[in-house]
Amino acid sequence: MLTHNDHIALALSGGKDSLTLLNILAKLERKFPRSKLSAICVDEGIEGYRDEALLLAAKECDRLGVNQLTVSYKELFGTTTDEIVKLNLGKTPCSYCGVLRRKAINRAAVMVGATKIATAHNLDDEVQTVLLNMLHGDPMRIIRSAPVLRDVKGKFLTRIKPLCDIPEKEVVLYAYLTDLEFQTIACPHGSEALRNDIRIFLNQMDQKHPGTKFTLQRTAERLRELLVNIAPPTGLNECERCGDPTPHQICEACLMLETVVA
Ligand code: SF4
Ligand code: ZN
Repeated sequence: MLTHNDHIALALSGGKDSLTLLNILAKLERKFPRSKLSAICVDEGIEGYRDEALLLAAKECDRLGVNQLTVSYKELFGTTTDEIVKLNLGKTPCSYCGVLRRKAINRAAVMVGATKIATAHNLDDEVQTVLLNMLHGDPMRIIRSAPVLRDVKGKFLTRIKPLCDIPEKEVVLYAYLTDLEFQTIACPHGSEALRNDIRIFLNQMDQKHPGTKFTLQRTAERLRELLVNIAPPTGLNECERCGDPTPHQICEACLMLETVVA
């Protein structure tokens, strides 16, 4: 995932996963003098929720001496998640917020001059996503959720998920054992009902049949190899409007912003 001279832009939310990864990457970075670590925080504009997380993230970056950049939806896109929710457009808040966050992280990573973007998805997140893709009837998306996602044309930053094989329970354990102060309240707009059902199902399965999550992760890896042969990735295009990476001509975020920003 990493080379000795990478400049890693870590997407830091202030939750247990990204703070854990921040600590691990900061330790690693000290051993490799030519590497660099920057933390990227995104303020989606969610009152009573994001402010606390941003404070915790900033405090930990200060303690570790990690360079931090915070970008906000308001300054980048002229709107916030709270404002989009008020428009009551029919889709779930996460379907807007998630697309904009991805775009905000890309922008911020370019701003700090990173060579790679790291996100803190753990094993549980990854296998939930595999099942979600299947239940949505979109198995080809499994290709795009790989632990290392390189742009085949080499134009855009590689995305990596260093915690993808670490169960959530172990991340929590690490966070408690190292006394990390992380945000525990949930987003007021969180509405991922199907993902929650899958989470409960997978936890029950793993309890009854230990190793289920790892097996599913390995199955996804094999599926990915097969799917890549059937439909090799053709690389991303530059969005005609904003220049950000997209498999289409205009990126999902630009299309979405048309409907939410007057
Ligand atoms: Fe955005 Fe949904 Fe996450 Fe809340 S739970 S921050 S709305 S993606
Ligand atoms: Zn765009």
